[in-house]
Amino acid sequence: MINFQKIESKWQNKWESKKAFQAKKSKKKKFYCLEMYPYPSGEGLHMGHVCNYVIGDVYTRFKRMNNFNVLYPMGYDSFGLPAENAAIKHKTHPKIYTEKAIKNFIKQQKQMGLSYDWSRTLASHKEDYYKWDQWIFLQLYKKGLAYKKKAAVNWCPECKTVLANEQVINGKCWRHTSTEVEIKELNQWFFKITDYAEQLLNGLNKLSWPEEIKTIQRNWIGQSSGTLINFRLKDTNENLPVFTTRIDTIYGVTFLVFAPEHPKVLELVKGTKYESKVKEFIKKVIIKDKFTRTSEETEKEGLFIGKYAINPLTNEEIPIYIGNFVLLEYGYGLVMAVPAHDQRDFEFAKKYNILIKIVITPKHKTLNELHQAYIEDGILINSKQFNGLDNKKAIEEITKYLNKTKLGNYSTQYKLRDWLISRQRYWGCPIPIIYCDNCGIVPVPEKNLPVKLPEKVQFGKEGNPLATNKQFVNVKCPKCKGKALRETDTMDTFIDSSWYFFRYCDNKNKKKLFDSSKVNYWMPIDTYIGGKEHATGHLLYCRFMTKFFKDLKLTKFDEPILKLFNQGMLHKDNVVMSKSKGNIVTQEEIAKKYGIDTARFFLMFIASPDKDKEWSTTGIESSYKSIFKIYNLLNEKQVKNTPELENKINKTIKEVTYEIENFNYNIALIKIMDYVSYLYKKGCTKYSLEVLAKLIAPLTPHLAEELWNKLNHKTLISLETWPKYDAKKINEKYEMQDLFIEQTKKDIYNIINLVNIKPKKIKIFISESWKYDLFKKIKKEIELTRNPGEIIKKVMDKVHGKEIAQIVNSIVKDPSKIPEVILDQKTELLILKQANFKEFNAEIDIILAENSTENKAKNSIPGKVAILVE
Ligand SMILES: [Zn+2]
Ligand SMILES: [Zn+2]
Repeated sequence: MINFQKIESKWQNKWESKKAFQAKKSKKKKFYCLEMYPYPSGEGLHMGHVCNYVIGDVYTRFKRMNNFNVLYPMGYDSFGLPAENAAIKHKTHPKIYTEKAIKNFIKQQKQMGLSYDWSRTLASHKEDYYKWDQWIFLQLYKKGLAYKKKAAVNWCPECKTVLANEQVINGKCWRHTSTEVEIKELNQWFFKITDYAEQLLNGLNKLSWPEEIKTIQRNWIGQSSGTLINFRLKDTNENLPVFTTRIDTIYGVTFLVFAPEHPKVLELVKGTKYESKVKEFIKKVIIKDKFTRTSEETEKEGLFIGKYAINPLTNEEIPIYIGNFVLLEYGYGLVMAVPAHDQRDFEFAKKYNILIKIVITPKHKTLNELHQAYIEDGILINSKQFNGLDNKKAIEEITKYLNKTKLGNYSTQYKLRDWLISRQRYWGCPIPIIYCDNCGIVPVPEKNLPVKLPEKVQFGKEGNPLATNKQFVNVKCPKCKGKALRETDTMDTFIDSSWYFFRYCDNKNKKKLFDSSKVNYWMPIDTYIGGKEHATGHLLYCRFMTKFFKDLKLTKFDEPILKLFNQGMLHKDNVVMSKSKGNIVTQEEIAKKYGIDTARFFLMFIASPDKDKEWSTTGIESSYKSIFKIYNLLNEKQVKNTPELENKINKTIKEVTYEIENFNYNIALIKIMDYVSYLYKKGCTKYSLEVLAKLIAPLTPHLAEELWNKLNHKTLISLETWPKYDAKKINEKYEMQDLFIEQTKKDIYNIINLVNIKPKKIKIFISESWKYDLFKKIKKEIELTRNPGEIIKKVMDKVHGKEIAQIVNSIVKDPSKIPEVILDQKTELLILKQANFKEFNAEIDIILAENSTENKAKNSIPGKVAILVE
């Protein structure tokens, strides 16, 4: 029995004591590999986690051995609601809960054999980390990119906090799937990510990310080009801006529609008879998710709000409505409705009896009555000086006119909204703002950072415990020294995660966010590994932050992640493995029983890393056997080097290198195990075992170190150089020899099974010699044509006419009958004479077909013998 647990902890200790994986700036080419830093849950890690981390570790170890200067750090996304709730549930403090969880995470991650640089670790709840969140906030505030406004926000009564739009799913909280999200009007802090909308969109083009993720981001940013036009609110001088891509229909506008949750709406109806009905309507609409609201099947519903606007081109009075199909995210949350030329508006107008005005007609036909909206192109009518214009042309002309008369302009709009960052919870980074009666909003001076999160607070009461903490709330105004109050909102934890990977480059810096030269050396991240679910949250925020840092001249690059890799999920019983589903297999139990290398082997072997995988006990058992098989090769007999062995070694190096580089770890393992079987069959040399140890080093690093050590090396294999292959030593011929023997044996087995006797004698017929040339010719011709007649013409001879026709016809039907490499008769004979057929326990007779009178002999072709058993 081999004690893998003992072996594993031995090498883990060696790596740690030798600081094997600490990254230092050097002249080598750098490689920054990263996994999304985890929220440290108190529940410990299971096989699903092991799977995620090992993907990155394999790649990093591979790059390190390929002479890259590798940065591979790990940290913890330790602020946030889950930790706060879990702590309350366990009647402990979030800090105690979190730090205990982190300790456990580190312990388990070390037991996985992950090659992190532990000297660079960080956790976002630590003062020396969140101090820099606050510093970043102040820089954004200085540039006008952090601002406060009243906003209708999603509020989960269970979480007692604001939810971002992407945290509302079907009107319910993402954490509390049965709790309806409410809408509250609150004064909230925002980051003006919309200022970067265009850059965020254009930057996507140069990234090597999965297309799926790029498309999601493009749609989320949602760019459209059109016209901005100002309607006037009747009896006021107030402009109501509207964005439209169809300004050609401006003369057909018969009403305006606000998104119900638009802040202007409540202002307009305040104190009027419409107020209560409008409020009721808003409540009803807002809990529906956006997809449902705008879907064609959803019935269009709305309400007149008692106000009118003036169309700036016709001076007509137009009623203002709210409607369920208008979203705040689109344009200005207010749309001009043209029922004659928009189907949605048409349905709405019919339902509420609003005027329908035709302003575009087909070229040679007059429209009188509409049964549905006319949405095709056409000619403008009822449009004053623009009558007769082609409608596409009219878009241009009318926009020009608006521009000239200062009533409107060209405009590009984005669906992207500003980033709402206020959270009314305790366990987060305090926003460094003070409110003074005299001075208004006063940012905390940089020298006073960090604004520390007080540890003594009362949990379990309603609302945010910071708000009732007098010591925290009451402060002196930094400007006038008068009495003032602290902001009690904390930051969205997506701020912590939007820049943490910068800090890894210089995690101990006390004076600055980071040293620019260090960040410019390591960043951008070369490969970032994480889940698809972050497409619109984290992966957008961190791009925004990177662009902002560049504008602050802190860095030289404007995209943080060159390559993104989405890993697949581990399933058990066909559901994702997770504590809440009750289907976890813990790391501990597997490591104890089989060793962690077995788990690593299994998880990388069952499917390529980007695919979902299913846990299986038989799978782990057979991986365990594979690990033994590799280890026990040490005891096999040593043989002399041969060109054949050299071929196998070099070919395996070439293939495994390619497969790991391209994240096909499963195929790499298949090639490695094929190599192992080969060495068992043919015997091994010390070099062939050294190569094996190196090839498995990224995948099963403990086993690799052990083998390396047993092969009398004193160095760590993790820091050795990846083996190089010599293309000159790769010769397909050797592969073909093996394949030829395998194939022959398989054929013999099949025949024995078929005739069902224990053979005394096996006759093997090797193809007639003329067929080898014929096959070579056919191979060439079949690449040009699949027409048997044409091929026969080219390869015909005077002696074997009928046979050649038969052979060509059967090959055209199934071209796999041609071996990849066509040997010759002499070689085939030699190979089989040297092969070992002992397993059949019979007399073996190898005969050239031309020397036999057996009919069967004629069936043999190059690469495939004919067989007769007696
Ligand atoms: Zn909730
Ligand atoms: Zn003041």
